[in-house]
Amino acid sequence: MEFRDLKKQYQILKADIDKAVGAVCASAHFISGQEVKELEAQLAEYVGVKHCITCANGTDAISIALAAWGIREGDAVFVPDFTFFSSGECPAGEGAMPIFVDVDEETYNMDPLRLEEAIQKVREEGTYEPKAVIAVDLFGQCADYGRIRPVCDKYGLLMLEDAAQGFGGSIRGKMACSFGDIATTSFFPAKPLGCYGDGGAIFTDNDAWAKLIRSLCVHGKSGEDKYNNIRIGRNSRLDTIQAAILQVKLKVFQEYEVDAVNQAAQWYDEALKDTGVKLPLVKEGYISSWAQYTVQLPQKADREALQGKMRSLGIPTMVYYIKPMHLQGAFEGTKSAATECPVTERLCKTVLSLPMHPYLRKEEVGIIAEVFKTCLEECKQ
Ligand SMILES: *Cc1c(COP(=O)(O)O)cnc(C)c1O
Repeated sequence: MEFRDLKKQYQILKADIDKAVGAVCASAHFISGQEVKELEAQLAEYVGVKHCITCANGTDAISIALAAWGIREGDAVFVPDFTFFSSGECPAGEGAMPIFVDVDEETYNMDPLRLEEAIQKVREEGTYEPKAVIAVDLFGQCADYGRIRPVCDKYGLLMLEDAAQGFGGSIRGKMACSFGDIATTSFFPAKPLGCYGDGGAIFTDNDAWAKLIRSLCVHGKSGEDKYNNIRIGRNSRLDTIQAAILQVKLKVFQEYEVDAVNQAAQWYDEALKDTGVKLPLVKEGYISSWAQYTVQLPQKADREALQGKMRSLGIPTMVYYIKPMHLQGAFEGTKSAATECPVTERLCKTVLSLPMHPYLRKEEVGIIAEVFKTCLEECKQ
């Protein structure tokens, strides 16, 4: 069994994907071909935002957004402590100080109360100037924007939505990637909408930022002229072949894949409800795109042994994430741990992600759940 079955997806989409890739090869417009422009328009429409600028990966997307805002040394950027490394790596890469904020135990997303505490603490200390918040839509569920946005407004902070895992999710019909002043996503193969290599995108309603971001993605070009360089940028583009693949995949993503992962999550919820593990909670009015189906094991369960037993029975599992951001070696000795993050520390010891993708069948979820239950019993210490 695969953790995320990309082979099965390809079998189903093979005819369309092969045709799309073949067309790009025939045209030989491998960089900035028409498929890239078309995809950007389709993504912007799907998300409900004015501008979409594709780029080389989700990490670049965050860095470019921060660069467009002029985030730099001396600035504080607030980031959840429980996330993939990029969310904190990017502000640090721009010279700013990431300040890690604890998360909500139920949703795994940034806790708005802890955010406000962290902002106040940084303001009092006076070493760094609070500039922006990077809210992450972890495991497919949007962060609590109804409560994070007012905090950003109150302290005059820009809000970046890191929707690398959230693409396809929504809150009361408003789509992920439409909540941030700028939002970013990733098309890494295992993300909710993945391509066949690296890829990313940046979304904003702001015309001036969109123009600046387009320039930053292509060597600081002026307008459409790549050889008239008016600022220092970088080379960060989505390949035309990847755009062509994404056009095929976006179609089925909209048509049935998001529904399919929600169905699979429901099967899991039903099959695991009496096991004593904490099941993932999707808040009222929210739709998740289920980048991960992540449960919390009882404290006394031996997670490593459980994973080993399940693996030996053919069921892959993953731990996202094993280390809080503030404990990563790269941030050792910095002021990034301005406040305590006990929830994240606990989650890192208890979370376990089960296989999740749109092509999971009900029988497979049943088998995973049975194996999980049996192995868990054996791994309670
Ligand atoms: C995957 C991921 C990224 C980075 O995306 P890449 O395309 O791999 O660079 C950033 N933030 C989060 C939360 C992610 O999960």
